[in-house]
Amino acid sequence: MSENELKTIAALRGIGVSPGIVIGRAYALNHQDIKETLYKLDNGRFVSREIKRYKRALKDSKRELLDIKKDVKKGIGDRKGVGPLLIDVYIMILEDKTFVASTLKNIEEHRVNAEWALKMTISSHREIFDKIEDGYLRERIRDLEYVGQRILRNLSGKMHEKISDIEGEVVIIARDLSPADTVQMATRKILGFATDMGGKTSHTAIVAKSIGIPAVVGLEKVTAEVSTGDVIIVDGTAGVVIVNPDPEVIKRYEDKKRHYLAMEEDMIKDAHLPAVTADGHGVGVGANIEFVEEIPSAVFHGANGVGLYRTEFIYINRKALPTEEEHFLNYKKVIEGEGIKWATIRTFDLGGDKFISDAGLAEEINPVMGLRAIRFCLKEVELFKVQLRAILRASAYGNTGILLPMISGIQEIVDARKIIDEVKEELVSGGIPIDEDIKIGIMIEVPSAVILADRLAEKVDFFSIGTNDLIQYALAIDRVNERVTYLYEPLHPAVLMMLRQVVDAGHKAGIKVAMCGEMAGDPLCTPILLGLELDGLSMTPLAIPRVKKIIRNSTVSESKELLETVMPFSTAREIEQYVRDYMIRRFPECCPVTWQVS
Ligand code: PEP
Ligand code: MG
Repeated sequence: MSENELKTIAALRGIGVSPGIVIGRAYALNHQDIKETLYKLDNGRFVSREIKRYKRALKDSKRELLDIKKDVKKGIGDRKGVGPLLIDVYIMILEDKTFVASTLKNIEEHRVNAEWALKMTISSHREIFDKIEDGYLRERIRDLEYVGQRILRNLSGKMHEKISDIEGEVVIIARDLSPADTVQMATRKILGFATDMGGKTSHTAIVAKSIGIPAVVGLEKVTAEVSTGDVIIVDGTAGVVIVNPDPEVIKRYEDKKRHYLAMEEDMIKDAHLPAVTADGHGVGVGANIEFVEEIPSAVFHGANGVGLYRTEFIYINRKALPTEEEHFLNYKKVIEGEGIKWATIRTFDLGGDKFISDAGLAEEINPVMGLRAIRFCLKEVELFKVQLRAILRASAYGNTGILLPMISGIQEIVDARKIIDEVKEELVSGGIPIDEDIKIGIMIEVPSAVILADRLAEKVDFFSIGTNDLIQYALAIDRVNERVTYLYEPLHPAVLMMLRQVVDAGHKAGIKVAMCGEMAGDPLCTPILLGLELDGLSMTPLAIPRVKKIIRNSTVSESKELLETVMPFSTAREIEQYVRDYMIRRFPECCPVTWQVS
């Protein structure tokens, strides 16, 4: 359906976070937030009563979450483990000593009711989270708020409507959904969802993608426009919702849905074929993962390796730092994952103000350029060594690479290598098996690393280009600031020139060059990346089948021709338009419909 046609019908526009089309009856979820009211407690007896009420609400909330976890496990089987893991995160928050103690302290010291004391706890956590520059991590306050709402509901005695209890097959309409709500949708009764609020990096979006139901978020007024029983179309690919469409529109969307499903089926069917171009250029396609539990989905979608394991997620939602054994068991699970032949483990990319309380770091004014990633590791050597020991121990179990983030110059590589060598020596002399020839690579995500790429290439075994940060630093665009999102252009001529420089430098030195930023999984960019002759592409699992299909149906020579044609263009817009037209002409079956609209 074209943009003009959409304008003529009442279509709501939002952010499509999970692709696909669903046509069904709406179910408006009654998840109004419970509001807290303040009561002052004027004697000690009331204080102990509030403490008891609070503790009982915690207990009830835990029991409910354990029930949900059971339902979710039944509904989704073993293949998708992220859901139960999220429920565990909520339970961890419920049981977190500081979280619990802070509310109890508020009741006692401020002599306020449990609801108000809990509100104070959440507000103080919100202040800390607001300062986090990483969009994904900042959004984790939502997990805390979700747990807070559940406790409040139990304090008030009001029931939390359980998605798994909803009768019939429906499309959920809600102001906002928590990941715990979303994981319950895996029971197949829920066809899709549309919400007023939400963003691309939320857990809710991640879970929707992982269970494969169409979803549109950020619609602002979908709850005002849609009531239970309305017929609704949710197009998660285009980010569009249509309410009570006429039969003609329904018919067109049914055709579109059939077409989409046939395309996806076709792509998944072939997802395990090798990613080799028609003229014989092989590309190593890997998955980007944040959790070990994502491995089955990665393999299902056609990855045979992990191109980027974002290990900083091991540190999330916990108070104490992970032990060497915990690191080791995580890495071993990844390396030994069924269907996984290789894994690139990135040393942790945190620091700045992200984990102040755990690592004792000072607050920074501009944390994105602060003491983070490799800089932090080189300062906190003992912490770095714990992780390195674990990666090296795990390397004895399969083909493993170490990837160092945020490298800005030679010295950091020299220093990091020195520490890696020390750890290796300790392990070998202790008789602990490791892969002594483990490959060490660096992320190219800082402009100085691009300029020095030829020199850096002499010092490492591979490059992996992190376009998310590279574009942020090179074009001076805060990657989490919605107001400058329009400037975040992977096909910007300056970006393409940088990519070419990095690939050429790597190849001249005889090392492989991969990409693991979001650009690697964007099908629009695939022919350009083939033209640049990247050796590997690592991406979110769902993107793999489409990208592999484009690779198999391309030749490097035609891709190079395309690249040479667009390289002299002056603007990203011109390049994007040209590549889009090329893709629609050349790979119509791989093009999301949204590309047909200019
Ligand atoms: C990148 O910067 O492109 C990247 C892959 O790393 P992250 O998104 O984790 O910063
Ligand atoms: Mg990065």
